[in-house]
Amino acid sequence: MKPELLAPAGDLQKLKVAVLYGADAVYLGGRHFSLRAGAGNFSEKELFEGVRYAHENGARVYVAVNIYARNEDLALLPDYLEMICAAGVDGIIVSDPGVVDLARRLYPGLPVHLSTQANTTNWATARFWEEQGVSRLILARELSLEEIKEIRKKVTAELEIFVHGAMCISYSGRCLLSNYLAGRDANRGDCAQSCRWRYALVEEKRPGEYLPIEEDSRGSYILGARDLCLVEHIPELVKAGINSLKIEGRMKSVNYVGGIVKVYRQALDAYIKEPENYHPDPAWLEEIGKVSHRRYTTGFLFGAPGVSGQHYEGEIYTSTHTFIGLVKGYDEKTGMALVEQRNYFAVGDEVEVLVPRGKNIKQKITALYDEEGNSIKAAPHPQQKVWTPFERPVSAYSILRKINQ
Ligand code: SF4
Repeated sequence: MKPELLAPAGDLQKLKVAVLYGADAVYLGGRHFSLRAGAGNFSEKELFEGVRYAHENGARVYVAVNIYARNEDLALLPDYLEMICAAGVDGIIVSDPGVVDLARRLYPGLPVHLSTQANTTNWATARFWEEQGVSRLILARELSLEEIKEIRKKVTAELEIFVHGAMCISYSGRCLLSNYLAGRDANRGDCAQSCRWRYALVEEKRPGEYLPIEEDSRGSYILGARDLCLVEHIPELVKAGINSLKIEGRMKSVNYVGGIVKVYRQALDAYIKEPENYHPDPAWLEEIGKVSHRRYTTGFLFGAPGVSGQHYEGEIYTSTHTFIGLVKGYDEKTGMALVEQRNYFAVGDEVEVLVPRGKNIKQKITALYDEEGNSIKAAPHPQQKVWTPFERPVSAYSILRKINQ
């Protein structure tokens, strides 16, 4: 069985990038009922367009309806579900048992996926949810491969796990840190990622003196989860019968979505094509290192992570490349691409271009023109649109990066 590759779609542009770079399905949030309130999220019009675009390109769309609802939220739910169904989505992601029940009663044909937020950590819970009509279980991130295999044997519902991205330091998202420190509720979609801030110790009589927190000579492990990366373990995941491999990151950039989706697509396809001769390609790990990330870990897959799952060395975030621009279009007559700036770049820069299919392109920026056709030396402004010559045609949503010095 070939598992689905499931990618985050924080907005319509990211949805298109995810689909073009090889996702079988995307998950997204509407303007209501979705965790990740700051991820851009989809208006009704965007949702309809997103579903149409995904379906035209053979991909499925799941909508997160995964807040822990209050009574007042429930009054709005039927209309919202009606709109989602009219858009033609392929499933909803729910964590609240009340919302599961209401969705099953109101729209029995709409597949319900149980969110990781519901913390399914054992086969009895999995079976319970299956009996409630849930068609897919997004398992808690804290499970090992052996635990997942045992659940697989005891339920027929689809199983989905996270394979890549940030880890919560709490139990699969159940956390009050953001509520306490930023007044933003993680369980209503508004996490400020407070667990990723830098912390120090202050003695009450010496305000302003920040003492580093150290647990051993290498630093502190508290609140320092590494990022998850299971690309080297595709065979184990496929053999375990997992139906969907999910990439975290509705808040992340198109550079992250494009790069990470492409790597997992390649890895999954390579394994399915020739399982006996499968070897992870070093280029995949290289590509994964090009987007901003913490050091990687395999999380809980092979047991509790301990020290190896914590980040305590050097810079917190790292990447070998900087995302500088997104291709918006290509003019065959002039051989130039229209690029939207994301970070400063200039004539003379060596760039690498990530393309949806095939090998990356390497070339130099030989000239730049503004939208009026005036020659310019650099693109200093965020979202600035510039034309630049390309040695060969390049498709929209290709991604330009510069190697970090
Ligand atoms: S603050 Fe961190 S641990 Fe808490 S919900 Fe947000 S990401 Fe998860």
